[in-house]
Amino acid sequence: MTKTILPGQTIGIIGGGQLGRMMALAAKEAGFKIAVLDPAMDSPTGQVADIQIVAPFNDFHALEELAEVSDVITYEFENIDATGLEQLAETSYVPQGAELIRVTQNRIYEKQAIAEAGVPIANYIEATSYEEFKEKSNQLNFPFVVKTATGGYDGKGQQTITSVEELPLAEPLFQSGACVAEAFVHFTKEISVIIQRNVHGEMTVLPVGENIHKDHILHKTIVPARIEPRTLEQAKEAARKIASHLNMVGTLAVEMFVLEEGDIIVNELAPRPHNSGHYSIEGTNISQFHQHIRAICGWPLREPKLWSDTVMVNVLGEHVAPLASRIAHYPNWSIHLYGKEEAKHKRKMGHITILTDDLDQTLKEIDESGIWPE
Ligand code: AMP
Repeated sequence: MTKTILPGQTIGIIGGGQLGRMMALAAKEAGFKIAVLDPAMDSPTGQVADIQIVAPFNDFHALEELAEVSDVITYEFENIDATGLEQLAETSYVPQGAELIRVTQNRIYEKQAIAEAGVPIANYIEATSYEEFKEKSNQLNFPFVVKTATGGYDGKGQQTITSVEELPLAEPLFQSGACVAEAFVHFTKEISVIIQRNVHGEMTVLPVGENIHKDHILHKTIVPARIEPRTLEQAKEAARKIASHLNMVGTLAVEMFVLEEGDIIVNELAPRPHNSGHYSIEGTNISQFHQHIRAICGWPLREPKLWSDTVMVNVLGEHVAPLASRIAHYPNWSIHLYGKEEAKHKRKMGHITILTDDLDQTLKEIDESGIWPE
């Protein structure tokens, strides 16, 4: 059963981080009310919500409490209890269901789903223990990357192995359970495709961005990605295949590697708006957050259009003070800060977006600002 959710009704968001905050801000523009469940009082989303439920994510009573005050429920991160969400969906309106969460919170299920959709991934093996991993590791060539099946993010829970002698470096990862080991991909670029689908099966794809990471954390997204038209088509087609195969509703970010010859392979999926889509707030006619709200509320989706070349740069803890002291110099930068109290080193505190008709000049301006030293 699908429903149309209208302004004045309440959207419940599980998770109170910056993604929930930007979803909430988009929804409030249209007159929706927001309820949020997060363990912290005055979380980034809590600060802009109408109702805050402060409790752990796996507290089923708190989920029920959220459902009581909400007309539709969505989520802003994938590490929530899939069984709890499934249970909730029996009595409340959760148009995204729990299956997408179940698949994307475990790299093993995720890789199986991508392969079943007929989309290329790096060669990999899976192992539930270090001993099993050691036995199977000769099925891969060096180097390869070992990743925990669950719980990793921003490069945490990963270890690159370049030789037999280095195998023990992966042992600690097995403390958190099963792992995958996948071939190291010598990519030329990383890109992401953000695909959105409403409850009626209508699908849109945001303009594809090129991602530059520093220390495994997204640093910059450049849109459009500087890739061949053939690669772009392949990337969009891969995202459509995965979204259709998963029969998803809401938002799916598909992170991909571009190979030397222009082919793509998929790295991983995120079942929610994605950091690499933040550029769409100013850069397009329909941000990933507005489109997400439309998708779960049963509204028609808008075909995304890029206004101009756009660059998004992340603001981590160490960048906040230098950015604040230079705001006066950059009237064309759109500043987003997420209202997090403590500007911890490497913590995502905000981002900036710049629309430009001279990309090289803008990239130079960012480098020369001194805010993001090499
Ligand atoms: P992930 O958490 O899987 O997105 O990995 C974080 C980052 O590590 C990616 O964005 C890549 O820059 C790098 N990385 C992950 N897996 C691989 C791989 N198989 N080959 C090369 N680089 C990788």
